Amino acid sequence: MNFLQKALNLQAETTAIRRDIHQHPEIQHEEYRTAGIVQKTLCHLGMEVKTGVGSTGVLGLLEGNGSGPTLMIRADMDALSMSEANEVPYASQVPGKMHACGHDGHVAILLTTARLLAEARETFPGRILFLFQPAEEGGFGALKMLEAGALEWARPDYSLGLHLWNEMPVGTMVIHGGPLMAGAQIFEVEIQGKGGHGALPNLAVDPVLAAAQVTVALQNIVSRSISPLESAVVSVCMLHAGTASNVIPASATLKGTMRAFTPEIWAILNRRFVETVENTARACGCEAKIIFEDPILSTTNDERIARLTRDAALELLPDAIIDQKHQTMGSEDMSIWLNEAPGCFFFLGSANPDKGVNYPHHHPRFDFDEDALPIGAAVLANAAVTILKASA
Ligand SMILES: [Zn+2]
Ligand SMILES: [Zn+2]
Repeated sequence: MNFLQKALNLQAETTAIRRDIHQHPEIQHEEYRTAGIVQKTLCHLGMEVKTGVGSTGVLGLLEGNGSGPTLMIRADMDALSMSEANEVPYASQVPGKMHACGHDGHVAILLTTARLLAEARETFPGRILFLFQPAEEGGFGALKMLEAGALEWARPDYSLGLHLWNEMPVGTMVIHGGPLMAGAQIFEVEIQGKGGHGALPNLAVDPVLAAAQVTVALQNIVSRSISPLESAVVSVCMLHAGTASNVIPASATLKGTMRAFTPEIWAILNRRFVETVENTARACGCEAKIIFEDPILSTTNDERIARLTRDAALELLPDAIIDQKHQTMGSEDMSIWLNEAPGCFFFLGSANPDKGVNYPHHHPRFDFDEDALPIGAAVLANAAVTILKASA
């Protein structure tokens, strides 16, 4: 019996775990109940377990048969601060909190993967570190676990992870080497002018006009400085100034996000951003102060590990459609783990219009086809064994 057949036999249990977590969503760094379910399940499988890593992170270590590399498999556990609009029996029981990204499914999938691999521990060399992470949706969950020494217990040579993906139907996957998701950087700009009366603009220096000019000028960067064959985003998402309709304020602030896949494009974005903001503000008589938050790295896969993962998926599902090109400007802190241990993060198609589960991630009606759960668990398990055997 292969991993897919075994996972299909466990589908009811996997679905029950997913629905239980879905009914009890917990947001960033509050995933105590979810972490408790993870801890109990991993202990029950005979693994040594560490809890409270970072905040609510959980680690489990599974020893294989004989020496070999260490592979880490990661799932994120957090929900979002939003109310669910679905009227299903397993809908969120907590007003204002909802699993609208599928992380409930990720936990259920990885717990089933852990069970499949624990039962098969005699068949592969090396060891597997199961990592359940808090706070992917903001809150720096991966970074906090890393800083708490999550990888020091059993330093991984390779890493694996997946995301349910409602942009694609169940049965399809996106598995390829190179960048999958963009790197992201939040910027904040404070434009300093000189306040005054709205009727006497000549006696003031208007930061509102400067902020508007800067917002427009920033759109030159992607259209004029980045090759049309490359991808980048500069979005101003917040613009704040003023308190009264007849007062020119002294300052204005804007805030937004920049995204790109490669270091070369990042260098252009950063240089052109500073030039554009400072010089446009100055042309309006204002001064601009720029603050960049720490960037999120792009989620970039290792070519060899991605190929082994794809081979493992096709071994179980020879007819599966595996997209080898799809990328998204969304970002993920799986990038932190991939930066520590080369690996593969892949998308697992989870939409099914016939069942009415094709709303996008973060929508109040988001839900996914639970038939994706056994596929995800089996592909992760088979990929783990394939990678460890090929790398021993
Ligand atoms: Zn999300
Ligand atoms: Zn997500």
